[in-house]
Amino acid sequence: MLARVEMGLGAARRTVLVTGAAGFIGSHLSERLLAEGFEVVGLDNLMTGDIANLAAAGRDSHFHLEIGDVRDTLPVYAEMIFNLACPASPVHYQSDPAATLTTSVLGALRLAEQASLRRVRIIHASTSEVYGDPLEHPQRESYWGNVNPVGERACYDEGKRAAETILMDAHRARGSEIRIVRIFNTYGPRMALDDGRVISSFVRQAIEGVPLTLHGDGQQTRSFCYIDDLIEGLVRFATKDEITHRIINLGNPHELTIAELADVLRRVVGKNLPVVRRPLPPDDPRRRRPDISLARSMIGFEPRVSIEHGIAATHADFVARLEQEHRRRAE
Ligand code: UDP
Repeated sequence: MLARVEMGLGAARRTVLVTGAAGFIGSHLSERLLAEGFEVVGLDNLMTGDIANLAAAGRDSHFHLEIGDVRDTLPVYAEMIFNLACPASPVHYQSDPAATLTTSVLGALRLAEQASLRRVRIIHASTSEVYGDPLEHPQRESYWGNVNPVGERACYDEGKRAAETILMDAHRARGSEIRIVRIFNTYGPRMALDDGRVISSFVRQAIEGVPLTLHGDGQQTRSFCYIDDLIEGLVRFATKDEITHRIINLGNPHELTIAELADVLRRVVGKNLPVVRRPLPPDDPRRRRPDISLARSMIGFEPRVSIEHGIAATHADFVARLEQEHRRRAE
């Protein structure tokens, strides 16, 4: 059991627990929290996370990694817990639906337990998937969503919806300090190379010089937020003392079709890549765009990174990591 870590001469660094720390968002968040002066405990079961993501955080003596599962008892008392533990790309979360659902639900129960024992602020990573294939556009926090409860995406969508329920019940019953962030499509360096998401797939296909796999007619939309913008929003929301709402959307409202995304990619990498059509997966949302008015007014959230710049940075990161992978295989 780790105790709250005290620094010399009595000055205490505030301890934060990040579940899912070895994941794409978790690792960027851990680095940012270290830079903000927190003692950071990262928890990860490495189901989809990668220890290599923690190379920079691991060089900081204020970072502590625990290999473990959010479904078990949490290993640490922290003043703040960011709950990011859950496979999040459709390919990953559908590969073990039971693990996905239980990670969300049991993880939320563990957090609620923790919040009933000690004073702790919980920042829970929810998702735009709670809106399902939305009938309201753009999506505001007040929208209840349109989710197929028995479809292939349900293990993730319904798990995340149930987690919100558990945490809001804990807030109503015991006044637990719960903050829920509905994260819209986020991308950037360190996305898993094989997560099957559209940006990671397109970037990898561009590097390998193979056609881009376009699902359906490519007219479905998404709104992509660069990782640095998301982290800024997360940290602002988590560290603000007075908040007016417990549930906020974070994402970039710049909406584009997947066919337009393919065009952006072609421009950025300077290759005229053809597409190969694939069937649209079941329950694939037709449109998605966050209404971020609440985040704007409450925490001054404003995404700054353009899709061109973000894709260029992601591309550079993928080139470097794929080269490393090739070198490792050749050795
Ligand atoms: N998509 C695509 N080609 C791919 C991977 C995904 O056209 O190789 C589509 C996918 O069907 C969806 C959109 O891109 O309409 C975003 O998919 P992603 O898996 O990135 O995220 P999510 O569906 O969870 O928003």
